[in-house]
Amino acid sequence: MKRLYDIAVIGAGIGGLTAGAILAKKGYSVAVLEAGRAPGGYCTTFRRQGFTFDSCLDAVSGWGEDGWLRRIFRKLGIEKNVEMARLDPLRVDNFAGDKVNVPGTIPELINLLYGIAPGEKDGILNLLDTMEEIYRAAMSTPPEVLYAYPGIKGVIGKYREKTYKELLDEFITSPKVRAVMCDRCAFLGLPPSKVSALAMTIMFMTYSSGGGYRINGGACNLTNALVKALLENGGELHLNTPVSDIMIEDGKACGVFVAGGTIRAGAVIYAADAEAMFRMSGTEPGRNRPSISFYMVYLGLKGAPEIPDSMGYYPGYDIESTFADVARDVAGPFASLEIINYSRLSPAMAPDGHVSVMLMSKAEYSYSRPWNECRDYEAEKLLSLAEKAIPGITESVVFRETATPLTLEKYTGNLRGAAFGWEQNVSNERVSPRTRLSGLFFAGHWTYPGGGIESVAASGLAAAESAAAAINKEAFN
Ligand SMILES: Cc1cc2nc3c(=O)[nH]c(=O)nc-3n(C[C@H](O)[C@H](O)[C@H](O)COP(=O)(O)OP(=O)(O)OC[C@H]3O[C@@H](n4cnc5c(N)ncnc54)[C@H](O)[C@@H]3O)c2cc1C
Repeated sequence: MKRLYDIAVIGAGIGGLTAGAILAKKGYSVAVLEAGRAPGGYCTTFRRQGFTFDSCLDAVSGWGEDGWLRRIFRKLGIEKNVEMARLDPLRVDNFAGDKVNVPGTIPELINLLYGIAPGEKDGILNLLDTMEEIYRAAMSTPPEVLYAYPGIKGVIGKYREKTYKELLDEFITSPKVRAVMCDRCAFLGLPPSKVSALAMTIMFMTYSSGGGYRINGGACNLTNALVKALLENGGELHLNTPVSDIMIEDGKACGVFVAGGTIRAGAVIYAADAEAMFRMSGTEPGRNRPSISFYMVYLGLKGAPEIPDSMGYYPGYDIESTFADVARDVAGPFASLEIINYSRLSPAMAPDGHVSVMLMSKAEYSYSRPWNECRDYEAEKLLSLAEKAIPGITESVVFRETATPLTLEKYTGNLRGAAFGWEQNVSNERVSPRTRLSGLFFAGHWTYPGGGIESVAASGLAAAESAAAAINKEAFN
């Protein structure tokens, strides 16, 4: 490793790798420093007894023609280096046995909702028109302005202080339509009554118009495409290299401390846990709460019943209640569950005649019992919940492994195993991508726009542009 770079990037999650790859392509000397033994952060894949699983992901957004992820991959010239399969249907919502195939286009969604509640056609149309208007306005507004600029007007100004429940209340009464419209609240980790109407609308519309995608062969292939772009453009990736501190001189970030020495850099991009960054840079800690975490059970199945690519199971139409008691019981009476079949679209992810599946449930870091003591017991409970969604799944299990919020924290350093950085509540207060220290920039899901692969890739692009401008080299086009 050299001791001087234009830019040092801390963390090789999708946020950090995107920033590093963009900067390397623009000709800057870049070192991406990763604490773990593999790149990707939450965007990784592992193999056990012939079964391959993504550590975390269900579906990624942003691969539609105008999506941020696709735009960034195009900019890097690596659009063809990753194969994506569009989910069709986008997901299956299973409300205690009442199954709804949710499509990944708006016209099909409108037809579906009309069919559910023919008496509410006007409300459905007006809701989706409003959400489309919010989405279009949001896409042309810088994320920090969107959430933090005080004087913002128009549809954004109208809904920025509102929860998603307040938005739905204006238009829809049908419990089932509301349930379908709330089926992805877990993707932002908050119930309809707490999640930001803006953040939820953006996420919902991104998946509902651009589609949801599975990365063929596993999430690691998305990560690997970014790593390849970084290396082929002369950038460096250093694994097993935790950064212990940020070097600050005269109020400017000018490098990092790693085991055995220092690395100097014209600018530093921090793309990992926010609390640690506050500690390292001596800046003010955030006031927001970390987002929810998850408990996962990875299953290898033989002779399994048919399992869709992506299914959400809910005990009824009341999505709000599925957030009750998450700290106490991941499979309690109100619990919901995501069931993700990796090998239906990527058969190589399981041996012949077998299936690779992940069960995923919202979970709090501070659980009623220490996670390491109850993880097996909770797996049994989650499996019995999965049995309600997919009868026969339990008896087809031939392999099982679990991961808890502690696992997520251990492998990525995210505070309390937060899945999406800070909680995306009404204020959606995040760390500014331009920190208070000159020369230090932020990428990843603790900054704007927020959690999810598409969002962190967009944050990486923004951080790269700011860092490049700061070290005063080449202007970006
Ligand atoms: C269970 C689960 C399911 C999810 N499902 C989806 C989904 O279906 N679709 C979707 O789009 N998003 C999903 N997400 C969210 C998404 O995965 C994250 O928002 C995103 O991957 C975060 O990327 P990041 O680059 O910000 O950080 P991370 O992925 O957290 O990467 C940060 C990296 O920094 C490294 N690091 C930390 N500290 C240091 C240090 N001091 N020095 C060097 N390196 C350091 C870590 O080891 C890690 O590799 C899910 C998340 C979870 C947990």
